[in-house]
Amino acid sequence: MTIRRPNDPELVEFASQVGSDGPVTVAGGRTRWTLGGEVDPEARVVSAPTGIVEYQPAEMVVTVRAGTTVDELHTALVAHGQITALPERQGLLPDQRGTVGGAVAVGENRLDRLGRGSVRDAVLQVRYISAEGEVVTGGGPVVKNVSGFNLPKLLVGSLGTLGIVAEVVLRTNPLPPVQRWLVGRHVDPTRVRSLLYRPGAVLWNGTDVWVLVEGHEGDVDDETAKLASLGEFAPSEPPPTPPHRHFLTPAEAAQADQRFTGEFLASIGVGTVFADVPAGPRVADPVAAQVAQRAKSLFDPTGRLNPGRSLGV
Ligand SMILES: Cc1cc2nc3c(=O)[nH]c(=O)nc-3n(C[C@H](O)[C@H](O)[C@H](O)COP(=O)(O)OP(=O)(O)OC[C@H]3O[C@@H](n4cnc5c(N)ncnc54)[C@H](O)[C@@H]3O)c2cc1C
Repeated sequence: MTIRRPNDPELVEFASQVGSDGPVTVAGGRTRWTLGGEVDPEARVVSAPTGIVEYQPAEMVVTVRAGTTVDELHTALVAHGQITALPERQGLLPDQRGTVGGAVAVGENRLDRLGRGSVRDAVLQVRYISAEGEVVTGGGPVVKNVSGFNLPKLLVGSLGTLGIVAEVVLRTNPLPPVQRWLVGRHVDPTRVRSLLYRPGAVLWNGTDVWVLVEGHEGDVDDETAKLASLGEFAPSEPPPTPPHRHFLTPAEAAQADQRFTGEFLASIGVGTVFADVPAGPRVADPVAAQVAQRAKSLFDPTGRLNPGRSLGV
């Protein structure tokens, strides 16, 4: 469902900053700024509005302006025992914090994607500024709202090349009361995955397996006891993540040791592999490439949104 609601003064003001003419780019926390290529230096830089607009813990949805940091959003949600699937700051300086809009535009998932779900599934509604400088709303603020073209899903991962995200409605997740990272050596990660009931994460570097066991304390103890049948597991911190992301199938990730000779960390059951080597150029599926080009020319006929960024298809 796509409706135009140009009635929110702050969004209308943001739309007028974006305008309808000339190259424009939007900056968040710049934690993934060069992803997809260098932006045209001539592009005007704008920043999305900030703040939490509405949070209904009982409904498990939150409406937030895109310039808000994920850190700030999660601090507000954690106070109600909730969180979202958006990735947050990992050990960077306080002024290097990713924003909600950046997280949606980039579409990277958290390390605990198994437990928290994907960014794409978390975005229920998006309000963005189109290339024509209009406020456009896509999707709906309720979990069950599947009618027509799914704009929110299209904008996730589009690197700001289809529209400038101003506000999103996100599904929230309950934060498990207990989360316990454990590490075991020389155990089969796929057996770990199938043995446990909904682990938050199963991560494997070819030798060690890190498991995020979560839930109520008794359940976490039971799951921890189950793991002992596979080998010795000890309490741990989450593992370090190599810098480069590779998109594989879950089956390929479970055999990542055959593909990577250096450091890697495979997310079992998900497919993402973080490695010390960058992913090679993606072989574009010709149909997907055509669809992407067609979408770009429909959403941004003059190529003014984030010129220079490419989605790699
Ligand atoms: C393994 C891993 C590690 C991570 N580590 C960190 C970390 O250390 N620190 C951290 O803060 N985050 C981290 N993240 C999260 C991630 O980097 C950010 O949440 C997000 O992807 C980038 O947000 P940003 O605001 O910095 O975007 P930016 O780097 O500012 O922008 C990235 C791209 O998105 C576009 N964009 C930004 N805002 C919008 C918008 N409103 N509408 C449309 N396009 C937009 C930009 O133009 C640019 O093309 C990590 C994620 C993962 C999966």
